[in-house]
Formats: sequence, structure tokens, C-alpha cells
Amino acid sequence: MVPTRSEFIHQGLPGKVAFYVLILASTAYAAWRFWQRVQTWRQGKPVTWKQDWIGNVTRYIVAQRKVRASRPKSGAPMHLLIFYGFVALLIATTLLAVNSYSPFKFHQGTYYLVYEATFDSLGLLLVIGVVWALARRHGFRPSVVSHEWKDLWALYLLLALGITGYVVEAARIANDPKPWDHVSWVGNAIAQLLPTVSDGAYVGIWWFHSILVMAFIVGLPHMKLKHIVVAIPTAAGVPARPMGHLEPISMEEVEKTGQIGVAEAKDFSRWHLMSVDACMECGRCTEVCPANGVGKILNPKRVAQDVLAASQTGANVPSAISEEALWACTTCNACVEACPVLIRHVDLIVDARRNLVAEGKLSGTAAVMLRQTGSTGHAWGAARGTREEWMKGQEVPLAKDKKEFDTLFWVGCAGATDPGAVKTTKAVAELMRQAGVDYACLGNEEQCTGDSARRVGDEFLFQEMAAQNVATFSKYQFKRIVTPCPHCFNTLKNEYGDFGGEYEVVHHSQLIAELIDEGKLKPAQAQEGGVTYHDPCYLGRVNNESDAPRKALGEETRLNDYSDAIQREVLDGNRKNITEPENYGKKTLCCGAGGGRMWMEEEPNQRPANRRAEELIATGAKTVALGCPFCRIMLDASVKQVGGDEINLVDLAEMVRDANK
Ligand code: SF4
Ligand code: SF4
Repeated sequence: MVPTRSEFIHQGLPGKVAFYVLILASTAYAAWRFWQRVQTWRQGKPVTWKQDWIGNVTRYIVAQRKVRASRPKSGAPMHLLIFYGFVALLIATTLLAVNSYSPFKFHQGTYYLVYEATFDSLGLLLVIGVVWALARRHGFRPSVVSHEWKDLWALYLLLALGITGYVVEAARIANDPKPWDHVSWVGNAIAQLLPTVSDGAYVGIWWFHSILVMAFIVGLPHMKLKHIVVAIPTAAGVPARPMGHLEPISMEEVEKTGQIGVAEAKDFSRWHLMSVDACMECGRCTEVCPANGVGKILNPKRVAQDVLAASQTGANVPSAISEEALWACTTCNACVEACPVLIRHVDLIVDARRNLVAEGKLSGTAAVMLRQTGSTGHAWGAARGTREEWMKGQEVPLAKDKKEFDTLFWVGCAGATDPGAVKTTKAVAELMRQAGVDYACLGNEEQCTGDSARRVGDEFLFQEMAAQNVATFSKYQFKRIVTPCPHCFNTLKNEYGDFGGEYEVVHHSQLIAELIDEGKLKPAQAQEGGVTYHDPCYLGRVNNESDAPRKALGEETRLNDYSDAIQREVLDGNRKNITEPENYGKKTLCCGAGGGRMWMEEEPNQRPANRRAEELIATGAKTVALGCPFCRIMLDASVKQVGGDEINLVDLAEMVRDANK
């Protein structure tokens, strides 16, 4: 006897016909519902970026890269079990269908035995994963995970599918045992618990399972589980541009539409509308949001849901999200980094801000910053001609004198005038001098990059600053730009290319790391009381640079490469000179200054920087090494507010300079 099993056991033609009619009807219904969703996405603007469909699907769907990289406490292992279990059952069903409806008949012999043993085992992944998810919802549900009956219904339906699948198998074995049944070890074990199953009882159990499958298909477009379908094209079409690169808007576009930014959902791209439809309300984005973490109204999960609702109802987007929530965002990208379905919340928020700014709805200190940037070319409004004051008493070469040099030292607004940031600027200049780097500064020719203006929502002020700076750069011959400001670094590196300014740009920590490798500098020395390091969002997360600052502090790490939590844990044990805070590297916690928040009023009990200061102080280290002038300004105020008077905030460049005196 050749091992195999037949289909539609004990069922005649009427049973077969009824099954095909019902399964086709339920599939057609689901397809129609999904098509309606596609029509909602199609009201958006056509996608303009290049898409790496195969690479993205391999990375984000097959390898589940985003899910694996998320925090274990957010349920990553649970999701992996459900996903791979579900995919295994889908493959098993597809193989069965190919065998049934094609001329190729292979469901027998050794293949059949391997098939049964493999998929009988893999089906357990789904059952275990769903039980885990249910336990999480009923027992230890993180506050950010919603608790709606629809979610529970979906989970119970999945569980019922998994369990009844095994029960059908067990009933078949109990009804008509075969010598090879032991390979279907789970079904066989259940069969041992069953009494004799009559033909009629088997058919009843089979139909019960089939109706559950149909209910699942019909319900899929209405449940959060729809992300199983929608996440695939979302991942495939995700913008190739880096996280820190905002899509520019052109004057032609504005002239054509008569509008700046997003007022209605149709002003977003089709991809952005599709992506919010993939949101399964897991809450990972909200869990890591620094604004939400200090009790602000901003909730990135809600942002995605509000944009989705606006796409379905035609509501005004800034009102649907709420203006207060929109202004609360620091554009730290923690939500973007955490989102398993690759939603770009920062694009959604900045696009809506652009419309608010154009409508004159920004007031207060952030509006003053925009005026200052436009009138003085300095975000804090320092008068023109004051950007060279920090150079007094030092030999700092100017670009206008040298004309040609290797490295352009971009100081930044804070680096030129803020007393704390000026210490960093001087240290970087001194290190470059000491290491023999051929560099020059723009001095009074430098102007704000426009980063904060852009992220507040004043796109055309940003473009004006970018055009002026690119024109200044074009006067000189240099190989690369170095800057101690991660915000300038991000904008110059990722965004100026859209305005004719393609440059090699490095953060000062990267230059220092390079000079250490070349033996021209020594890393920072250990400090009495210990050292911790605060990763700036626009360096560690947005530009994936966590190793260079640590090298400057005497640590060899591979954080830039880590792709999951496990590797991170291994690396944790290897630090010699620094103690990591709870959130570091890509998962760093924002100081609250990005996205123009530096210039917005903050309730004392709602300062993200206070929360970060508490985390840094909790390491026990007395020195906090920094790599960003914005973080320095924010944390300087906060460490004092949370009682860390004895904490020494110092840029890593100053520490390296002291080690090389
Ligand atoms: S936006 Fe992304 S991270 Fe946030 S709830 Fe939705 S799926 Fe989860
Ligand atoms: S970018 Fe940062 S502050 Fe803004 S919504 Fe996302 S996590 Fe929150």
C-alpha cells in the first residue's frame, strides 16, 4: 500500500459542489472588499520613487527583519511563531491544491510522509503563537496594545482554525486508521484520545473546520489581520530614501494644486495611504514615542489610524490628527524604526505640518525661529557676521582664504554661538589641527542648513537655505564635510542632494574614529565615576551610526550591524569603558529637541529630556558623553531639573581632545 490520503472522504458530489460554491463565494467577497480598499489608496498621488520589490519582500516579509529587530517585550517571538506557522499552513494547502487541480500527482509515498511530518509539526507554531498572543492580551497586555473584541475574535478564530485542523486529521485517523499515521504525530496523538469516529461524524467535523476557514476569508478584510495581505505591497513599495530624508515639494506642484502640504488624505501618496491600512494597532510606535512617554497627546499609532480614517471619510487631516499632536512630534523616527509594517509616521506628520505652516497656523517661539532663520541665516537669530567669534584666539583656516582643502568643517548654528556647543567646535578644530587634517571653515559664509525649518513644516524656507548653502559650497574645492551636529549631518548628507548638493558628509565622531584607526589620535580616557553615552536620534537611529562615537570613547562595538535583540544582548557584556543606558543605539531615547521642538514651549512635567536625563543618571555614570549640540542644550537643563547636579555633560570630542593633550 502506497502512503497517501484522499480528499472529500465520505462525501459525494453534492458535498464537493457545496464546498466549491462556498469557498469561491467567500474568496470573491474578500477580493471585492480588498478591491474597495485599493480604491481608497488610489485617491492618493502616484508613487514617484524607485522600488526594490524583491529585496524588500525578502527582507521585511520573508525574513521578518522589522519584527525580529523589535523589542522582545513587544511580542516579537509571538509574532514570528504565528507568522511562520501561518505561512507553513498556507504552503501545505497550496501543495495540496496543486496536487488536486494540476496534472502532477505527487501527494504519495515518501513525499507524502515528509509532507505530513513537516506540516504536522509546523502547524504547532501557529497554535503556540496564538495561545501566547491570547495570554498576552488577557494576562499581561502592554498598555499600548488595544483590547477590542474584533482583535480577540480574530485570535480565537485563528486558534480554532489551528486546533480544528488537527481535530480533522485526528478524526480521519480514528475513522480509517493507516499504518503510516504515526508520521502525523500531533493528529495521531489526538486520535488516540478519540472514540471511534463514524463516517457521518467525520464529515461533520470536516465541514465545521471548512466553515471556519471560509469565515476567516470573509472576515480578513475587516480585521487587523488584513495586514497579512496589505503589509506585502506596503513592504514591497517602501520608499528607498533613508529615514532622515524628507520628500521635497516643488513650486510647480504648489502652483498646480494651489496648496502646500497635506490637507486631505488624497494629498498623500498612494503608498502612504496603503501603509496606514496595514497598521495592526500593535502599539510598538507609541511604546517608543518620547512625546507620548511624557504624557503628551501625540500617539503615533493614532496618527496612522487617523490618516486611515481621513482616507475613508474625506476629513481634514490636520484636524483629524489634532494640531497639538502634530506640533508635539520631535521627528525622532523611533516610531518609524519600530513599526513592523514600515509606516513612515514622520512623513505623515511633516506633510500635515507643512499645510499648517502655509495656513499661518504656527505661532509662538517656533514661528520666531522661522523668521530668524530667514532674516539672519541663524536659527537662534544671531546677527550676521558673528559666526567667526568662536575662532578668536585660535588659528582657524577660512575657506575664503584657502579655496581648496580636504575637509570642510561645518560648524552649525549652535556650534557657532551656543556656549556649550562652542566648546565642542573648538575641540573638533583642535583635534583636526593636531591630526594634520587639511580643513577650513566657512565662518560668516555659513548659514543654517534649514533642518529645523523643514521639520517644523516650512519647506520653502528650507529650500532657500539649501540653495544658498549649495551656492556657497560651489565656490570651493573640498572632498568632504565634517560636522558635530547630527541634524546638519543628516540634512547635508541625505537631503541636499535633491538641490544639487551631493557631498560626502561625516559626523565628527566618524572623523575621530578614522583618525584613531590611522593612529593619529588616541581614544578618550576612562573617567572617574564612569561614563555613559547618549546616542543622538539623528546619528544613532536615523543614520545608523552608533559605533564611531563608541570607538572615540574607547569601545569596539558592532551596533551598526545588529539586526536583532539577541546580538545586542551579547554585545552588552563587552563594554569596557562605558555603561549603556536602557535605550541606546538605534533604540535611543530622544532628548526632545528635534523637529523644531527646541524652539517650542514645553510644560515642565512634559519634557522628554527629563525622562532621558533620568535614564542616563540611572546608569550611575558621572560623565555623560554627547555627540550633538541640541542634546547638550536640552539635557543640560534637564539633568539639573531631575537632580543630577553632579553630572558632567561633555561632548566626546572634548574627551578625545583631553586624552590627546
Ligand atoms: S503604526 Fe506600525 S507600530 Fe504603530 S500600531 Fe500601527 S503597525 Fe504598530
Ligand atoms: S517621530 Fe518620535 S516624537 Fe514623532 S511620533 Fe514618532 S516617536 Fe513620536
